Amino acid sequence: MNVKKRIDELIEQLKAYNYEYYTKDNPSVTDQEYDALMNELVQLERLYPELKREDSPTMRIGDTVLDAFEKVTHDIPMMSLSNAFNEADLRAFDERIQKAVGKQMYTVELKIDGLAGTLHYNETGTLTLGATRGNGTVGENITTNVKTIRSVPLTIDYHQPLEVRGEIFMSKHSFEKANKRRQEEEKTPFMNPRNAASGSVRQLDSKIAAKRALDMFIYSVMDPIDHGLDSHYDALMFTKALGFHVNPMTKRLNTIDEVIDFINEMTEKRHHLSYEIDGIVVKVDDITCYDKIGVTAKSPKWAIAYKFPAEEVRTQIKDIVFQVGRTGQITPVAQLNPVLVQGSMVARATLHNEDYIKEKDIRQYDTVLIQKAGDIIPEVVRVIKERRTGQTKPFEMISQCPVCHEPIKRNESESAYFCVNPNCDAKKMNGLIHFVSRDAMNIDGLGARIIEQFYNDGLVQTIPDIYRLETHQADLILKEGFGQKSIEKLLTSIENSKDNNLDVLLFGLGIRHVGAKVSKILANELQTIEAFFTVDESTLTAIDEIGEVIAKSVVNYFSQTAHRDMIETLQELGVNTTYHTSKQQIKEQFKDKTFVLTGKLELYTRKEAKSLIESFGGKVTSSVSNNTDVLVAGKEAGSKLNKAQQLDVNVIDEATFKTWID
Ligand code: NAD
Repeated sequence: MNVKKRIDELIEQLKAYNYEYYTKDNPSVTDQEYDALMNELVQLERLYPELKREDSPTMRIGDTVLDAFEKVTHDIPMMSLSNAFNEADLRAFDERIQKAVGKQMYTVELKIDGLAGTLHYNETGTLTLGATRGNGTVGENITTNVKTIRSVPLTIDYHQPLEVRGEIFMSKHSFEKANKRRQEEEKTPFMNPRNAASGSVRQLDSKIAAKRALDMFIYSVMDPIDHGLDSHYDALMFTKALGFHVNPMTKRLNTIDEVIDFINEMTEKRHHLSYEIDGIVVKVDDITCYDKIGVTAKSPKWAIAYKFPAEEVRTQIKDIVFQVGRTGQITPVAQLNPVLVQGSMVARATLHNEDYIKEKDIRQYDTVLIQKAGDIIPEVVRVIKERRTGQTKPFEMISQCPVCHEPIKRNESESAYFCVNPNCDAKKMNGLIHFVSRDAMNIDGLGARIIEQFYNDGLVQTIPDIYRLETHQADLILKEGFGQKSIEKLLTSIENSKDNNLDVLLFGLGIRHVGAKVSKILANELQTIEAFFTVDESTLTAIDEIGEVIAKSVVNYFSQTAHRDMIETLQELGVNTTYHTSKQQIKEQFKDKTFVLTGKLELYTRKEAKSLIESFGGKVTSSVSNNTDVLVAGKEAGSKLNKAQQLDVNVIDEATFKTWID
């Protein structure tokens, strides 16, 4: 191997990846792949120091700082961390430390997968600056965006200038919410919570950053000795006392063995955390020996980041198939040789659209790396081209709908193709599945499989047909799996759905760009479905959060006679089409009552139960006390149930709770 050539190659490749990752927030390779290349470069530079280039990424942090933000020069550079990938690397780190400064205690912290931020407070305790790490020396001034992070105190009770640093991140929940919204708005989803956090904090419009619900854990105090702090752990506790958010898993441990045990424990537990972590950071606790231990060009020698092993898994694409969604959008999907990813079997992965496939040159029979994007939808990260055989040929997009065989269309400025045939069976069936789904009309007993069966039998072909099912009881009873009881249950839940609020109905109709949140805003504003029949685009765009795309789509939907007729039929069948605000819904059992939820709920998620209670005039607290009026006890309820019984609190089970709601 020509070493110089390989070093040059690695440098060019890593530089390109740095640009994609740090500047564009859009990496094309996984962190593990990047780390492997970086590791190879570090090893080569160690073996051949004479070939080490001045501009090597092993010497640099981050990448170019964008001009969009005011630049901030860091008094103390914001460094990177050197990596450990296994137990041997950790023990070698401990040996180096012992050799330099003797036996030490370590602070262990979760390595939150976000981006580094620094915060400056002045002598009155006021936040004066928030900045990104940038290239380590120069970062971006993001003060206005940082102020939108709730866990960042705007003032502190400390009257000496203070600089603290930490990780700005997005929780898994906020990430899912942000991506759901992006999907509704038909924007490309964020790759992972890190990109989402980085993209949000570097938004020029701080309103957008505010909506993204970012958080920040503090992990260091600058010039700690000046603040009388000589232990890193104590420094973190000092920031905690000032009101900063410090990760609760942070620990001070005595030996490297304890550190390794902690890492093993966290490797198991990390998927249960509400945020993503990509490793564990180990830092010498005694700050007074940092100077003696020293730093490299890029990172301090008194800390190391253990990186978790890859979660990406290799498999082969058996076939590329096409799904037709309720809006007619055609999504290519890879059928995979099933593999285990993060504890569950994955047999399909989304390929998003034609552009995504072409950009990554994904082909049938390719060996690919897959990962769960933000822990949910599996996706193909990249093709392992070295494994490609002569069997593959470049991907070609279909030209006809795979279900109705009508020609498909790609709108300008969109990457997706659509089947535009209003009578396409796939569109109609998926529209029905969406209508009855949990977030829409929530009709129990009408799952996707049953809708499919009813659709194919001709029993339910349109939304109004769902409300005509009661006249088909004789047909239903003949169906496999249906008895008198299950039919009654199904018909009751169909009947109950007639009272759903207008926003739920609106969402259920599956109008393009109209997700659950937009439906609520529109229903609240227009109040009745009739108002939608006549509303124009300018009235809609005057509503806060409603843009042109949504307005056009709404007007287009309601201008179609078929849709209006369908809605009138629904009204004749007794479906509610007006918006009732929560005030009108207040129920006696809930009014001004304090509820506590405990145990496993099966019919509702905790969040649903809480918002139902609140919408009916009650409130929910987390612990049982004399002020508790009702305890809703799900399965395996424990100490809260005992306490409620002792305090004579009214205890109800989930089934009773449901009757209160219905
Ligand atoms: P790093 O992620 O290895 O470690 C340093 C960073 O860790 C700090 O800047 C800070 O933001 C973060 N951190 C989180 N918790 C911390 C804690 N408790 N204490 C201290 N720091 C903490 O280094 P880096 O320079 O930010 O990035 C390098 C890594 O980024 C690579 O190892 C790779 O995984 C990834 N990367 C990926 C690509 C790609 O294309 N996929 C490109 C560049 C970098």
